[in-house]
Amino acid sequence: MTAVLMKGPPLAERVRAQAREDAAELGSVGLATVLVGDDPASHVYVSGKHKAAVEAGFQSIDRRLPADVEQDELLAVLDELNRDDGVDGILVQLPLPDQIDQEVVLRAVEPMKDVDGFHPFNAGRLYAGHPTFVPATPLGIMALLEEHGVELTGARAVVVGRSTIVGKPIAHLLLGANATVTICHSRTRDLAAETGAADVLVVAIGRPGLVTADMVKPGAAVVDVGITRTEAGLLGDVAPEVADVAGYLTPVPGGVGPMTIAMLLRNTVKAARYRRKVLAFP
Ligand code: NAP
Repeated sequence: MTAVLMKGPPLAERVRAQAREDAAELGSVGLATVLVGDDPASHVYVSGKHKAAVEAGFQSIDRRLPADVEQDELLAVLDELNRDDGVDGILVQLPLPDQIDQEVVLRAVEPMKDVDGFHPFNAGRLYAGHPTFVPATPLGIMALLEEHGVELTGARAVVVGRSTIVGKPIAHLLLGANATVTICHSRTRDLAAETGAADVLVVAIGRPGLVTADMVKPGAAVVDVGITRTEAGLLGDVAPEVADVAGYLTPVPGGVGPMTIAMLLRNTVKAARYRRKVLAFP
């Protein structure tokens, strides 16, 4: 293996410690999560977020609704959390059941409390180059690249995946950092030609091992966002042999995942600052 591993836990721990200090300074910081239904993976994610919030000294509000909840009932819960002065950040765990229109629900979160950055106001701010809340996973990726001194200005960055949670926001952040950005997806004609030209390659597709060593430029910085649960454990989108070609690589598990929770805490501290007018919200 030649690649330097960009490990999440050491940096995530520093970000979490800072959030703990910031929360103590602010007095109190409240994070509310809303979980609908009983998807096992969502339960694991929400529990992890609560544990981290409590460890950072936040007030953690845990709202759980049954899988067959009516949309209006969910909107009423959000309305209550929007009005609750003790709640700085609100996070609706995705995916939502079929009877609920996700777009309507995400628009119902008060933009100043939208710590996931999924509200069109905050997504639009990122698009316009003036970010407010940015989704936590892309923020975690940028922090890992910065931590390892990966040069972005003028670099050719390729993002595989165009979701609103990872692909699109990370592409905007890389563009904001002056990389030349290409976004690939399932209809891209020659994926290997695109990935093989990347100095910085971010893969967020959810197909284990899809990116193989022959698809990676020697010395490239490779960020593997994929997490697929298999009998063999958690697998990333990047094949293990890529470590013999890449210059930098995030491991799975132990790469981007831990950074996501840390950045959610950082976003919640930011929400508390916006709400206390320590920071101006546009
Ligand atoms: P998503 O919404 O399912 O999007 C997947 C994207 O991959 C789509 O844009 C899709 O293209 C593209 N794609 C699928 N197959 C492809 C192929 N063969 N070649 C090229 N592109 C392909 O997924 P997501 O929410 O972004 O998540 C992606 C992965 O990251 C998942 O494994 C998820 O579990 C993981 N994830 C991890 C974290 C973390 O904290 N580490 C956070 C979020 C997500 P089309 O648009 O054309 O369909």
